[in-house]
Amino acid sequence: MSDAHARLRLNPHVAALPPYNAGLSLDVARRASGRDDIARLASNENPDGCSPRVLEALRGFDPSRYADPACTALREAIGAFLGAEPDRIVCGNGSEELIAAISRAALEPGRDVLTVAPSFGLHEIEPLAAGARVRKIAMREDFGFDLAALEEALRNGPALFFLSSPWNPVGPALNEAGLRRLAEAAKGLGTLFVLDEAYFEYGGDALPDAQRILGEAGLPFVILRTFSKAYGLAGLRVGYALASDAALARTIAAAKTPFNVNGAAQIAALAALADQDWMRASVAKLEVRRGALAQGLKKAGFRVAPSRTNFLFVDTGGDSAEAAAALLSEGIIIKPWREAGFERFLRVTIGTASDSERFLAALIRWRDAQ
Ligand SMILES: *Cc1c(COP(=O)(O)O)cnc(C)c1O
Repeated sequence: MSDAHARLRLNPHVAALPPYNAGLSLDVARRASGRDDIARLASNENPDGCSPRVLEALRGFDPSRYADPACTALREAIGAFLGAEPDRIVCGNGSEELIAAISRAALEPGRDVLTVAPSFGLHEIEPLAAGARVRKIAMREDFGFDLAALEEALRNGPALFFLSSPWNPVGPALNEAGLRRLAEAAKGLGTLFVLDEAYFEYGGDALPDAQRILGEAGLPFVILRTFSKAYGLAGLRVGYALASDAALARTIAAAKTPFNVNGAAQIAALAALADQDWMRASVAKLEVRRGALAQGLKKAGFRVAPSRTNFLFVDTGGDSAEAAAALLSEGIIIKPWREAGFERFLRVTIGTASDSERFLAALIRWRDAQ
């Protein structure tokens, strides 16, 4: 450390954070592969883009003005869509920001947080940044949530429970009975139950109605959704939280920056929400490509988790970092999982049909060369 920094004392919780494992950029992949046609399958983006109504709505956007810091119109539209009071909704610069705001609002150093492994990185990183201790309950061998172990851990009354369902990075979703079991175990102990539904739109009709189930259980909760995935607005950064009551929503809102959701994002999210037909058509196409890729992988002998998302979690049978390096040299970006105990797995976004063909052929070539 240089002399100028010798007496600098940074927040030790933040200084010790593990890096977020973001997908590689196009540039890095182009340089590594010497190719231009990169298949970008690490970030769960929507290969269909977004609704044309979004692009139309953005034409009138005036960048010179501050946006509404309360996202009033967007929260009203989301409230009407969900059948919930707008004062229970907080919009975020992506749901990522809301994971940070919830951690900041609910945690103090030394508190306990519960989540699962493998996990969405920020469900661990943001609590650690707030000085909390994070415990993770491992996935079962059959790709299921270990409900019994989660119930037992919830009975210790963690300050915060982060769970994504449908589950990033694995793919399956809790059913109604499973969600009820976890809510019952958490209830009455002061735990804030955060259900991250980033992949809600891909979950199909049988996904439980979390708003009703968690509401009936009578515990403090937050449900997170995003416009980044099925609505195709990842680059604009907008997501939302539905809190169990308005006071909880106010405290989460107090923990974010005031002008967090920019004006273009607010306009785009309103237009995207209003075009459910585009979103549903995009999801329907995705389901066909997801089924085809899962079948191709299984036929080639890979173990694949059931998925109610826009990605697949695949057991490579070897070191997934090596598989990722081999795929990158062919211009294909996927995410090798690096969490302890899951290093054999990779997560691949369902891209276009030709992305899937390239990915499958390259993965088989890598495996056969082992
Ligand atoms: C993609 C994702 C998010 C982040 O979404 P943004 O709204 O783009 O910040 C949140 N949670 C999970 C589980 C995700 O996979």
